[in-house]
Amino acid sequence: MSGPDGRPAGADPTLILSMTLRVEQDIFVVRQRGREVADAVGFEHQDQIRIATALSEVGRLLLSCGSPADVAFFAQTGGLRPVLRIEVRPAAAVRVGDLPGGHLAAVGRLVDTLEMDDDETAMVVRMSRRFPTTAPSLSPERIAELRAELEASLPGTPLDELAVQNEQLLTALEQVRTHRDHLARLNEELEETNRGVMALYGQLSEELEETNRGVVALYAELDEKSSQLRAASEAKSRFLANVSHELRAPVTAIIGLGRLMADAASDPLTPEQTTHVELIRSSAADLLSLVNDLLDLAKAESGRIEPNWSDVDLRMVFGQLRGTLRALSTPDVRLEVEDPPAPSVIRADEVLLTRVLRNLLHNGLKFTESGEVRMRAETVAGGWRVSVVDTGPGIPAELHQRIFEEFYQVPGTAKAGTGLGLPYARRLAGLLGGSLELTSEPGRGSTFTLVLPVAGDGA
Ligand code: ADP
Repeated sequence: MSGPDGRPAGADPTLILSMTLRVEQDIFVVRQRGREVADAVGFEHQDQIRIATALSEVGRLLLSCGSPADVAFFAQTGGLRPVLRIEVRPAAAVRVGDLPGGHLAAVGRLVDTLEMDDDETAMVVRMSRRFPTTAPSLSPERIAELRAELEASLPGTPLDELAVQNEQLLTALEQVRTHRDHLARLNEELEETNRGVMALYGQLSEELEETNRGVVALYAELDEKSSQLRAASEAKSRFLANVSHELRAPVTAIIGLGRLMADAASDPLTPEQTTHVELIRSSAADLLSLVNDLLDLAKAESGRIEPNWSDVDLRMVFGQLRGTLRALSTPDVRLEVEDPPAPSVIRADEVLLTRVLRNLLHNGLKFTESGEVRMRAETVAGGWRVSVVDTGPGIPAELHQRIFEEFYQVPGTAKAGTGLGLPYARRLAGLLGGSLELTSEPGRGSTFTLVLPVAGDGA
């Protein structure tokens, strides 16, 4: 058994309504029916107008080609989302090529799909639009009901449809006006926001400029202060160098004269005079060592010490130090100088390196009451670590940097000294391309570590 559209009755898609388009006035009817069908199956107002407009446009085109047409509406409920299908079949032999394609493409945008096919006798235009998700579900019974209702309702006159169209036009115009007002409001808001942003931007720019000016001024001040500092430091070094140089000659003379006075070949002195002369001599010797230290430091600071680079064998340096400082070890404090692992040749200034290590060993022996002072060397990536480890009193962590400052001595260390040895040793370590570090804590001895690059700076 076949339905009126030639499809098996009751199968999906199911016919909802069919009609014929013969004369121009029928276009209004087709449009009205299209809207009614769309409304009946659950499309919203806007979609109803889209579908009705698309349908009336296709009808108008076919009529302009001189062909009446059959129009049929189907509900296809089998897929994921039900679809409204509309088929328009011209009665005369109109072919796809007879229709203006550009216009139909525009009409196609009103629906989900619009296809045109030529079959043997004529063509067919198929349109479809998916039901909105809000549409009520359509059972075959409900479709049959709708069909009955639609067939019973008589299509209105073209004038009725015109009135409806006018009303729709007015509604559309109203919507356009509302949109335009809304847009104008949005524009105003946007302009205001823009003005706000520009004001903020201006304010920020000003603040930035001001900050920049401040930073520039600060830098200028910093530059000035650091050049003043540099000048002051140079003046200090010059002063130290000059004063120590000038002091050295008279102090050496005092020591010489003292020695002469105490000499057995000179006139004999009373015991009291001998004591005084001895006091003068030892004070002058202390002063000379201070003057010498000052002179060394001033030279190192002024950059006037140029390392004399050569290949230095650490074993030899260690051997010499072992020999010269052995005299300072006591029964209570042993001096242990371990031989460095071979090969132990580095690029350095032998005199400066010896001075640094002698200074560290000297301090170790001076401040250690019992135990040992040990020097050893090991290779590390790209260099050597020479450590002088003692079992002396140790130094609190908060003073680890201070003892490298000029004239600083740990309070309570009642040993003769100038407080210039470590700052000098650190400067020399820097000149040799290395560094001098300390690890120590009170009661656990001290370890001074000289790190030296194999290549030095003069490679
Ligand atoms: P000086 O030995 O002439 O006093 P230094 O610059 O060599 O001057 O040392 C500064 C101070 O650091 C010393 O006075 C001493 O307080 C402390 N110090 C240096 N070496 C040691 C050490 N091996 N053990 C404990 N304290 C030390």
